[in-house]
Amino acid sequence: MTTISVAGAEIDTRHYIGGQRVSSAETFTNTSPIDGTFLGEISRGGQSEADAAVAAARAAFPAWAALGPQGRGVLLHKLADLIEENNETLSQLETMDNGSLLRSHRRGVMPRVAMNIRFFADWAINELHHEKFETRGHTNNVSWDPSGVAVLITPWNAPLMLATWKIGPALAAGDTVVLKPAEWTPLSASFFADLTKQAGIPDGVFNVVQGYGKEIGSALVAHPDINRISFTGSVPTAKVIARAAADNLTPCSFELGGKSPMIVLEDADLDLAAEIAVEQYDNAGQVCLSGTRIFVHENIADEFAKKFGEKASAIKQGDPRDENTDIGPQIHQVHFDRVKGFVDRAKAEGQEIVWGGEPNDELGGLFFKPTLVKNPTEGSEIVTSEIFGPVLCMMTFKTDEEVIERANGTEFGLAAVVVSGNQEHAKKITDVLVAGTIWVNCFFVRDLRAPFGGSKKSGIGRDGGTWSFDFYADVKNTVVSPNGWKE
Ligand code: ADP
Repeated sequence: MTTISVAGAEIDTRHYIGGQRVSSAETFTNTSPIDGTFLGEISRGGQSEADAAVAAARAAFPAWAALGPQGRGVLLHKLADLIEENNETLSQLETMDNGSLLRSHRRGVMPRVAMNIRFFADWAINELHHEKFETRGHTNNVSWDPSGVAVLITPWNAPLMLATWKIGPALAAGDTVVLKPAEWTPLSASFFADLTKQAGIPDGVFNVVQGYGKEIGSALVAHPDINRISFTGSVPTAKVIARAAADNLTPCSFELGGKSPMIVLEDADLDLAAEIAVEQYDNAGQVCLSGTRIFVHENIADEFAKKFGEKASAIKQGDPRDENTDIGPQIHQVHFDRVKGFVDRAKAEGQEIVWGGEPNDELGGLFFKPTLVKNPTEGSEIVTSEIFGPVLCMMTFKTDEEVIERANGTEFGLAAVVVSGNQEHAKKITDVLVAGTIWVNCFFVRDLRAPFGGSKKSGIGRDGGTWSFDFYADVKNTVVSPNGWKE
């Protein structure tokens, strides 16, 4: 069987290479995290499929590069239109496949997916220019040239959203693409491939291959005929990819994990702080940006905890297709066991669990209750490791200096949240926090013009606006002399 019916749509379970559907002899099983429903058998690629996809992308590159930003923009806008027209299908599909909320897919995520494509197409046309420098009468002309074949390796927590953060700028820059979605969420990428075909994007410009990271993923990143690797995922996998890329000196962009601090200062609006804190459970905690270490000034800790408790107890966990559900299941049994393992070990260490701390037995399956650990021992794994589940730690602090040191005392540096009623006070903290993005009195406000990425072990490089093109394109300077011209 090469197609499966999910959420009313026919999804091809084969690879999409050079504009054709290609199957592998072997398959892997895909199930829904909502209730374990069998969704289908998906083609499981390896070296030969990686080779074929890279060859197809390489063959399509010269013509795609030659189209220029305007020519590519027409097709990318058609693609964005098709994403919008297929919002409902994409939303249902993604929810079945990864268990995130249907309502956020419909209203937030899929419109953003279309915007990811539209925005970068327009940026390449309208914004990608540099002022000319004059050097003793010579003119420096800076340009962003297509660089070749970009391999994109993406995770399961926001599959199409995170894939299109990469696909948008890569295609707009004139690169051709081989996308390998995560093996736990293969479906939206496959359906997306059909949309690229309908949009008229030439065969080979966009390819999707399916399979395991250790098989087709590692074959792709070690491939000598690729020009870029963009990866979002875990730190250990990034190290493996960086080693493979080193042999060919393939440039890498990495967006990795986090253990972000959320700092509630003494002067904070506590209702706002509690509201933002509860948002850290979004997507059942499967968000790399989440502020999972909540530092609260000791003088307001009790009042904050009370307000947080009121809001947290109103969170409705359940079927992500239900409009009233706030958080759904974990993605997969392996991940569920990992999250539970962290909490079980914290309990065994005697850490104080104030909320949750166990599977949601009423719902069964992969549902884990929103969990709060109070004042865990400094340095214990529940405070230092990225759990990627609905598990928050709440700690108190006395002084700004202390909280800054503790907030920065992590190997990660992806994001931070500061809640304060005083602008100067907030700035004193944000000036010295080490993070790619800091939100003050808000969370998850993301503008595609702004840089996004991680410091320290949270990543290498930045996405957004021209930063994306600095990675996907070859930045070139052409110096033109005033001398030697004959006409
Ligand atoms: P997680 O632990 O969240 O599943 P990973 O970093 O292992 O995160 O996976 C993110 C993506 O990286 C997935 O698409 C996965 O298949 C891919 N991947 C895993 N291992 C490798 C590898 N060795 N080479 C290339 N890609 C890989």
